[in-house]
Amino acid sequence: MARAAVSGRLIAGPRPWLVATIKTTTDETSAARTLVLDVPGWPGHLPGQHADVRLTAEDGYSAQRSYSIASAPETGRLEFTVQRLDDGEVSPYLAGIAEPGDQFDLRGPIGGWFTWSPSPESTQPLLLLAGGSGVVPLMSMIRAHGAARSEVPVGLIYSVRSPSDVIYASELSERTLSSPLTVHYQYTRSARPGARPGRIDAATIAKLAPPPAARPAIFVCGPSGFVEAATSLLIDAGHPAATIKTERFGPTGT
Ligand SMILES: Cc1cc2nc3c(=O)[nH]c(=O)nc-3n(C[C@H](O)[C@H](O)[C@H](O)COP(=O)(O)OP(=O)(O)OC[C@H]3O[C@@H](n4cnc5c(N)ncnc54)[C@H](O)[C@@H]3O)c2cc1C
Repeated sequence: MARAAVSGRLIAGPRPWLVATIKTTTDETSAARTLVLDVPGWPGHLPGQHADVRLTAEDGYSAQRSYSIASAPETGRLEFTVQRLDDGEVSPYLAGIAEPGDQFDLRGPIGGWFTWSPSPESTQPLLLLAGGSGVVPLMSMIRAHGAARSEVPVGLIYSVRSPSDVIYASELSERTLSSPLTVHYQYTRSARPGARPGRIDAATIAKLAPPPAARPAIFVCGPSGFVEAATSLLIDAGHPAATIKTERFGPTGT
């Protein structure tokens, strides 16, 4: 009993800060970059979890932000994908200036609610809704699904400004050919020729989401406004709130 209580505290307690070294960087779009990290002591993660990143200047000033883990646990690699906000403090460094060999503090993994792992016993379909860089933790789930060769159907509805802003475009395209993954892009500002830009609406959900009777496990991630709108549409379509898990990327309070 005492032993269980202690191990529970160790799991739930704050994680120590570790030193992350950038191994490689890859530009996913003109504003989003993937960082592959080497983090000695990293305890592993579940798809959907995130970590805290802390940058410290020479004068001691430090800034801390959360970033979702993009890689699947099975690869043994730790990857983040950061979308640059031009007026931001941390993302312009991570998505633009940082180079292989650079180091920063990292703490995690964090979050036990917004997670999904493949299970051989489960046939429950997976429905993922991403707004912009909200695709990052959902990609970890898609990668874990692929690594486990899961037969569970996965649908990704990805709201993004334009085709050139799609993160992981070629990998997603390849995975639709090799696994039971379907991807629908909802372009909000400029679409491909012949298609009209617009937001996800009730018709999108009716056409692309599994019916509520199939009880899909649903994960929604992105800016707060996107998460709220998508969740309302899902509930209006008859999906029980208890089946919908959300993660908001926006600044605190929005
Ligand atoms: C759990 C969690 C996971 C996250 N995972 C990722 C991830 O995988 N990839 C990623 O790129 N970001 C992710 N974020 C967002 C990230 O933590 C930062 O908020 C983001 O990188 C902006 O930081 P910044 O220092 O550049 O901007 P700041 O200096 O904090 O803000 C600059 C301006 O942008 C606004 N702003 C801040 N954050 C956002 C935002 N997310 N969307 C729109 N406007 C914003 C601010 O209000 C301000 O006006 C995640 C956030 C959370 C809470």
